[in-house]
Amino acid sequence: MALLEIEDLKVTFKTADGDVNAVNGVSFGIDAGETLAIVGESGSGKSQTAFATMGILAQNGRATGSAMFDGRDLLTMKQRDLNKIRSRDIAMIFQDPMTSLNPYLRISDQMAEVLQIHKGMSKRNAVREAAIMLDAVKIPDAKNRITMYPHEFSGGMRQRIMIAMSLLCQPKLLIADEPTTALDVTVQAQIMDVLSDLRRDLGTAVILITHDLGVVAGFCDRTLVMYGGQVMEEAETGALFKTPTHPYTKGLLRAVPRLDRDDAALQTIAGEPPDMSRLPVGCPFSPRCDVVMDHCPTVRPPLETEGNRRRACHLSADEVTS
Ligand code: SF4
Ligand code: MG
Repeated sequence: MALLEIEDLKVTFKTADGDVNAVNGVSFGIDAGETLAIVGESGSGKSQTAFATMGILAQNGRATGSAMFDGRDLLTMKQRDLNKIRSRDIAMIFQDPMTSLNPYLRISDQMAEVLQIHKGMSKRNAVREAAIMLDAVKIPDAKNRITMYPHEFSGGMRQRIMIAMSLLCQPKLLIADEPTTALDVTVQAQIMDVLSDLRRDLGTAVILITHDLGVVAGFCDRTLVMYGGQVMEEAETGALFKTPTHPYTKGLLRAVPRLDRDDAALQTIAGEPPDMSRLPVGCPFSPRCDVVMDHCPTVRPPLETEGNRRRACHLSADEVTS
C-alpha cells in the first residue's frame, strides 16, 4: 500500500473573476522511503497540490478528491488529527527558511521545542539531540553555533537548519517545496547532498517540488511532470530524462544545462505559462505545444498508463520521440 495516495485532487479558488482551477484532477502515489519529484513551471499547480494535501490552502481555496495517508483521508480529517499527523508524520520545508524560523529565538530553543513537545524530552536532552541533527546536516561547530539566532547564518545554512528541524521527529514523509531555489548553484548541490544522505539514513519518503528538472536527476526515483494543474507525464526519473514521451517534458529537458552539449543549445519553451482562469478545455499545453493538432485545444487527452509510465497526450509515445 502506498504511504500517500492522491486521487482525483481538484483545487479551486474563489476569486472576484470567478472560480480558478489550480489543480484539475491529479492522481499519484508515493511509497514509504521513495523519492518523487513534482516538476513544472510556476502556475502548474504543484505547490497547491502539496498545500491541499497538508490542509494549508488559502482561505478562498477548496480541495476535493482524496489524499490517503497511512489509510486515512487527509482532506476530510478533523483539524486536531491533521495537526498530529503534520507535526509527527509529515514535515514540509519551503523555499525561504526565514519564513519558517522565528527570528527572535535561538536555533537551540526552536529545535528543542519540537522535541520537547512531540517527544516529551527534557530541554537539555532536546538541545543535545538537536545539535546532533545539525551536525548531520553539516553545520560546522554545531554544538556551539546552535545557540545563535537565524540571522547569524547564511541562506544555505538556514536551509540546512530547516532540513534538520523538519527531520527531528523522523517523519515518514517530507514535502520539500523548491528547497534550493533561492540559493546559488553550488549551495543547491550541497543541500541536495545533505538531503539525500539524511533521507537514505532515516528512510524518509520525500516529495520534491521544483521548477528545475536539473535538481531531480540525481535525487528522485520517479518524476511527475505537471502543467496547468494536470499531470502530463510520470516515469522513473532515468527513463524520463532518456526518452521523454510528452512534448512538454521534452521542452523542459531542452532547458536543462548539460555537460555533453553547448549551452547555446539551451532553449526555453516559447509562450507564457498558463493563465489558470482561462485554460483550454482540451490539453492545457496546446497553446505552446510545437506539435499541436487540430483537436488538442478542445479534447482533453486522458492520462493513460503505458508500462511503467503515465502520459497525457493525443500523440503516441513513438510519435513524440521519433
Ligand atoms: Fe501537444 Fe496535443 Fe499532446 Fe497536448 S495533446 S501535448 S497539444 S500534441
Ligand atoms: Mg510554488
